[in-house]
Amino acid sequence: MIRLIIVALLLTLYIDAKCDRNAKILISTYSKVKACKNNYIIFSDGTKMVYDDGKRKSFEQRLKNADIQDMFYDKYPIGSCKTPRFNHDPGRYRNDRFFRKIYGSSASSVRKNLVRVRWLPKSLKRTVYIKVHKNIASKMRAVSNELDRLPQKYKKYLYPMGGTFNWRNIAGTHRLSSHSFGTAIDINVKYSAYWRWSKGKYRYQNKIPCKIVNIFEKYGFIWGGKWYHYDTMHFEYRPEIIKASR
Ligand SMILES: [Zn+2]
Repeated sequence: MIRLIIVALLLTLYIDAKCDRNAKILISTYSKVKACKNNYIIFSDGTKMVYDDGKRKSFEQRLKNADIQDMFYDKYPIGSCKTPRFNHDPGRYRNDRFFRKIYGSSASSVRKNLVRVRWLPKSLKRTVYIKVHKNIASKMRAVSNELDRLPQKYKKYLYPMGGTFNWRNIAGTHRLSSHSFGTAIDINVKYSAYWRWSKGKYRYQNKIPCKIVNIFEKYGFIWGGKWYHYDTMHFEYRPEIIKASR
């Protein structure tokens, strides 16, 4: 009997150990995430999602079938803008179901929650608005205001911008882009580089100044220029990735 109790106790400890620091970060970051119990993330409406599916995955498998725990697989390097290591793509592993639950599960449900944020209100001659999910509007406004205060030489990277909300898959995949949730922004495409554009031999390229990147990070956005599979125009709101890397 005692043996049985000890085994049950160890099993409970093992399962709960799966609800690690990163699971706690999700609870403290997203108000819809209420708890992590026995390897399940529990949402405010009672929905349960597996945190760690326990599967061993290759790089490609992790991209295609990321569980919630996999989203934290690579540590995001805050501050520094060094060339990424091979296949180091922090934040590129996303669990679609998780973000559909947080921001909306269809184009129309996200669209209903979009709000306007003024882009670079002092620097641009004409009034320009971007549309983002209401949950991140205050952060995007803070980013816009701080970018607005940068010296003039930085402004060409920030306007005209590539876009924000767009319910679509990531190019060449069946996975939803973070633009679908109104939580991402592409800055000026003209000064940007994207790994899919480099035909033939892979070579990391970037023109976006780190000063711009640092401002986005300060408010919880990660930058696609820190991915081996680089996308240097792309910023997305992923405060859990920033917090986990501290
Ligand atoms: Zn993008």
